[in-house]
Amino acid sequence: MKKIMVVNCGSSSLKFRLFEMPSEKLIIKGLFESISKNNTEENFSSQYKIGDFFCKAPIRSHTEAVKILLNYLLENKIIASYDEIDGVGHRIVQGGKYFDKAEVATPDVLKKIEDLCILAPLHNRAHLDGIHAFQEVNKNLVNVVVFDTAFHQTMAPDTYMYALPYDWYEKYDVRKYGAHGTSHKYVAQKCAEVMGKDIKDLKLITCHIGNGASISAVMGGKCIDTSMGLTPLEGIPMGTRSGNIDPAVLEYMNSIDPEKYTVKELLRILNHESGYLGVSKVSHDSRAIEAEVETNPLCRLALEIQYKRIADFIGSYYVHMGGVDAIVFTAGIGENSSRLRREVLKRVSVLGVKCNDEVNDKVRGEVALISTPDSKVKAYLIPTEEELMIARDTYDLVK
Ligand code: AMP
Repeated sequence: MKKIMVVNCGSSSLKFRLFEMPSEKLIIKGLFESISKNNTEENFSSQYKIGDFFCKAPIRSHTEAVKILLNYLLENKIIASYDEIDGVGHRIVQGGKYFDKAEVATPDVLKKIEDLCILAPLHNRAHLDGIHAFQEVNKNLVNVVVFDTAFHQTMAPDTYMYALPYDWYEKYDVRKYGAHGTSHKYVAQKCAEVMGKDIKDLKLITCHIGNGASISAVMGGKCIDTSMGLTPLEGIPMGTRSGNIDPAVLEYMNSIDPEKYTVKELLRILNHESGYLGVSKVSHDSRAIEAEVETNPLCRLALEIQYKRIADFIGSYYVHMGGVDAIVFTAGIGENSSRLRREVLKRVSVLGVKCNDEVNDKVRGEVALISTPDSKVKAYLIPTEEELMIARDTYDLVK
């Protein structure tokens, strides 16, 4: 029996789960929030939760958070010593062209993650802070890095390349990398298991629809296309991201007001003020938009734009794979919104998929077959378990 810690570090947060492996039993989970070097003993906003234990405390760095966490585990006899943690698996957003699988965090690996900060400055920097924190608190812990982009590294050049000057690829690595790979991989594997089939024999389209959203084509267990690109901005419209647009919109808006609409500001708007929020003017949250769908035409439009674009990707991946066995919905919206699943499936019914409305309306957050028994293409709701996937990858490397 081994214990594996899974860690997801943001710039001011640290989320963790401790698993027993190989049973995959969750031992404890928690999170640290509002970590900031500006927190003082007198004035701080940071707090943490470990299992049921909640505490407000000044936490100035990820290292302090890790010390609190490991001490808590020791004091509460969840571990008898640090040696009981056989591996710490860190989620890394951007692995670029370097990583097609999880790796032990050696100095060489960390240097590459550092180099990739140029592609995901906020994320990769925060992940490095997390790894350094664990290394600082106990140098014997084995840190493993699991990349959101790794699953997409099997895409072929005609899929991951943009039709841009080739130099940009050669000199600056401009290409599609995708995101949410750990989630797409998990739900694809789970789907094969639920269908009782070998994943090598399946053509799947996995729809990870949360505040961030992406779709992947998974053939024979390998990703052959995904909707996100160099960054998570590409693809379908999301909570606040625009997804694909004509890049000439940028120059056009800049010509209207060059002072206001700088490239930086335009990219901020595309990332943070577009998608559901931009179109509806109401919210980035699907629950708020769905609540007004009958009364507010812009809320309806925000949803319909997204449904249409999701259907476009599904159709394209169907053609690319020469068919599809199952369409899978996952993540916050995919798992909870029966409306999104129903409306998307309606738009791709020509492919031979029929939504079982009665079942679909009832289920949320659980594994369920949501297509009718006579549906040629199956549709599933499969809750994602990114942390468990990271625990598995970490366990495989340390066992
Ligand atoms: P995620 O990024 O995967 O955490 O997903 C966040 C999104 O899931 C938000 O837009 C939420 O509104 C949405 N979500 C969570 N619960 C529900 C629900 N019960 N119905 C509809 N959307 C939900």
